[in-house]
Amino acid sequence: MKYGIVSIVGKPNVGKSTLINGIFKKEVVISSSKPQTTRNMIEVTYDDLDGYVIDFIDTPGLHTPKNKLDLFLNSQVKASLKKSDFILFIFDVSRDYDEEDAECLKVLKDFHAENVILVFNKIDLKPEAELARIIEFVKHQFSFNDYIQISANNSSDISKVVEKITSNLKEYEGDDSDLKVMKKDISDKFFISELIRKIIINNFRQEIPYGIAIVIDELKYDETKKMLSIIYSIIVEKESQKPIIIGKGGKMMKNINIILRNELLKIYDCKIFTNSFVKVKRDWRNSVTQMKELGYKK
Ligand code: GDP
Ligand code: MG
Repeated sequence: MKYGIVSIVGKPNVGKSTLINGIFKKEVVISSSKPQTTRNMIEVTYDDLDGYVIDFIDTPGLHTPKNKLDLFLNSQVKASLKKSDFILFIFDVSRDYDEEDAECLKVLKDFHAENVILVFNKIDLKPEAELARIIEFVKHQFSFNDYIQISANNSSDISKVVEKITSNLKEYEGDDSDLKVMKKDISDKFFISELIRKIIINNFRQEIPYGIAIVIDELKYDETKKMLSIIYSIIVEKESQKPIIIGKGGKMMKNINIILRNELLKIYDCKIFTNSFVKVKRDWRNSVTQMKELGYKK
């Protein structure tokens, strides 16, 4: 059995989440055209290939911390880089190399630099001649181990990435049975809470989505009724945001639940029941205690 931990880094919107979803052939993490939708450090275990187990970590971008949650997330990203066997640095060829890319590479210098693979993404958006020039420039910005060019939404390109990783993986030194214990799929609870967060991101303006957290209060499957029931809370950080989420006569909340049910019906082969609450936890992104309650803990 070969095993490895792979962290995926790069500035917002370069296609990190799209790449992970492509590898898993399903939406395990949120991908969106809006930046910074990846808040949590997301660790998902890939074991579709015989003989290989790979933990992928989708990192939120490192950015200047504005609150305690940001500080916590930055420290989590660094911890994940430290334990990684490989780091994929994603570069979006449709945008210029900038300060943010440089910052990201500066952070990588502190970790095992020999294991950083440069991934040029979105090559579908650039003519070949221009691409060659970009590649030539970016590959000299760091001592990359290797580089690869892809479109994260092209499945044969995704296979190239998986091959690049598996061909570099080491034999797992421990007991294979430990690995089996370590294998963990993304839980339904986590998946559903991310799905709800995504629906809110897509339906509300900027200031709301970044201050919310989702808590799944109950997730139960009733065998006789063939029904999955989900009770959840949307946590907002200001009293004034509550009526916005709920909407006039509960209209927004109702819409969120309609979209949620439709999305879930594509995945689960059963009836879906949802019930939701909106709760205010004032300035929770600055309260370590509340962050812990909401699942942001070491
Ligand atoms: P992240 O912030 O790095 O996780 O970026 P996302 O995975 O959320 O992707 C940001 C946007 O880029 C989304 O709208 C994706 O659909 C789009 N995207 C990702 N990869 C590609 C690609 O290879 N080609 C094109 N044209 N768009 C892509
Ligand atoms: Mg992302």
